[in-house]
Amino acid sequence: MTQALQINWQDSVIQTIRFKNRDYFLKRDDLLTPISGNKARKLYGLLNTGFSGYQRLISHGGAQSNAMLALAQLCQMIGLPFHYYSRPVPKWLRQNPLGNLRTALDAGMQWHITDNGLPAQQTEPESLMIPQGISMPEAQSGLQRLAEEIEEFCQDKRIDKLSVVTPSGTGATALYLQKHLTHPVYTVPCVGDRDTLEKLFRQLLPDTERYPLILDSKKRYHFGELHPELLAIYQDLLNSTGVEFELMYDAKTWLVLQDQAFDTPVLYLHNGGISGNESMLARYRRLNS
Ligand SMILES: *Cc1c(COP(=O)(O)O)cnc(C)c1O
Repeated sequence: MTQALQINWQDSVIQTIRFKNRDYFLKRDDLLTPISGNKARKLYGLLNTGFSGYQRLISHGGAQSNAMLALAQLCQMIGLPFHYYSRPVPKWLRQNPLGNLRTALDAGMQWHITDNGLPAQQTEPESLMIPQGISMPEAQSGLQRLAEEIEEFCQDKRIDKLSVVTPSGTGATALYLQKHLTHPVYTVPCVGDRDTLEKLFRQLLPDTERYPLILDSKKRYHFGELHPELLAIYQDLLNSTGVEFELMYDAKTWLVLQDQAFDTPVLYLHNGGISGNESMLARYRRLNS
């Protein structure tokens, strides 16, 4: 029943961009198809292990989550039902889903709203449970692959020292990338604070040699909150590089990055997620109208 699903890894090129008088390498994981961004990396291991014996996939999280969309697309392609659980959302969103939620529902996702945002019953053995944000040990192989692509790029271009920068939610992307990369990975906590992210790192990999280096802003940004400076840097980036970045993770990370000095070339990892911008831009428009 399950068909082979291939990710087109060669689409993730590395280009050079210039922003506020600095050059950056940009790794375009956002161009990956048919699943985009770091969610493609995180699902790669699962694609290889296969889904035989499973009747359905179950996950939970926010109603506009990028992980939710990636899982909905995956399930549509392999022909497994996908059940997704969220906390209660505003009535207007339930009646008129937009953005990632709309796309995921169109891909056949079965959406359940519960008070705690979790599945009510104990899950049966034929249900494959995916943790929130696809943060799981199986996510490691896709990030190892990414590390190899970056190492190969450095060899080709004779780059000895490189700093890699990427935002963090669950931290799985930065952590597993760092595990397999010789160059340092810098990351900005976008969902919780520095302490939460450090704890997540240690939970996922209690004894690894090197953890990613955490950079943060002085100002606290709560995930998903609207801030004019986030929208402004998103627009600045779009105007000066021609690349659309993501409004929650990337915008904060670029704010931190622009004030940070590095003594090596910097490679920014674009994790995709711009499909989530539609609903964020709609919120900014409502705020400004
Ligand atoms: C999911 C996501 C992240 C967070 O990745 P983690 O592995 O959970 O840290 C960062 N950026 C974008 C655009 C995402 O969609």
